[in-house]
Amino acid sequence: MAETDARVAIVTGAARGIGAAVATRLAQDGFAVALLDLDEDSCADGVDRIKAAGGRALAVGADVSVSQAVDAAVRRVADELGAPTVLVNNAGILRDNLLFKMTDDDWDAVIDVHLRGAFLMSRAVQKFQTEARWGRIVNLSSTSALGNRGQANYAAAKAGLQGFTKTLAIELGKFGITVNAIAPGFIATDMTAATAARVGVTFEDFKKGMAATIPVGRVGTPEDIAHTASFLVSEGAGFVSGQVVYVAGGPKD
Ligand code: NAP
Repeated sequence: MAETDARVAIVTGAARGIGAAVATRLAQDGFAVALLDLDEDSCADGVDRIKAAGGRALAVGADVSVSQAVDAAVRRVADELGAPTVLVNNAGILRDNLLFKMTDDDWDAVIDVHLRGAFLMSRAVQKFQTEARWGRIVNLSSTSALGNRGQANYAAAKAGLQGFTKTLAIELGKFGITVNAIAPGFIATDMTAATAARVGVTFEDFKKGMAATIPVGRVGTPEDIAHTASFLVSEGAGFVSGQVVYVAGGPKD
C-alpha cells in the first residue's frame, strides 16, 4: 500500500504510557496516526519521533468526554490525515478511593473519560468506518474489570467497556468492522507510578512486589499492549471480534 493511501488510526491518550507505545507501533505497522490527548503539545514528541522514522502523524488536542471536542477532533483528523478507520480508545484516569470515601466527582470523572469517552469517539469514527466498509476498534479495559479494592468507579467503567465492546462488535460486524478489548494487568506507566506514590511505596518496590504475583515473573510494558493492539487492528485479525484479551502475564477471569 502506498504511503499516501495508508489507513488512518486514532489513538486517544497518546501523549504517554500505553497510548504513546500503541501510536508508535501502529506507525511502524504503516498506519498514519493521529495522537489525541488533552493537550495537543504533549503529543508533539511522539509525532516528531514517528515523522523522523518516515511515518505520518498528527497531534490533536481534545477531551474525549466532551462531545463537540470529539466531533471536531475526528473531523480534523479526516481533513488532515484522511478518513480514520482504526480507533484505539486508550485515554484514562484514576480516582481511586474506598466506596465510603469516593466522591461524586471521583465517580463521574472516571466514568466520563473511560466510558463516555469511548462512546463519543466510537460514534464519531464509525461514520468513516461504515463508509469504508472496514474498521477496527480496540478499547482498553483492565483486569480491574474483575473487581479491585478501591476502584469501584474504575472497575465499573472497565467492565462497562467490555459490554460496550461486545455490543459494537454485534452492530458493526456487517460493515467489516471488528471491535475488541484489551484488558491489561499491571503495566509500568505513570498511572501505576502514581498508584505506588499514593500507597507510599517506591515504584521499584511496587513493581518488584507485583512481579512476584505474576506467573511470567515480570510486570508488563506499554510495548506488550502495543503488540496486542497491532494484532487486533491487523488485516488478518478480521475474524476476531467481540473479544476481551487479557494481557496480564497469566490467566485472568
Ligand atoms: P497514563 O500514563 O496515565 O496515560 C493516560 C493518558 O490519557 C494521559 O496522556 C492523559 O493525559 C490522557 N487522558 C486522560 N484523560 C483524558 C481525556 N479526558 N481526554 C484525552 N486524553 C486523556 O495511563 P496508562 O497507564 O498509559 O493507561 C492507558 C490506558 O490503559 C487507560 O485506559 C488505563 O485505564 C488502561 N490500563 C492501564 C493499566 C496499567 O497498569 N498502566 C492497566 C490496565 C488498564 P494527561 O497526561 O494530560 O492527563
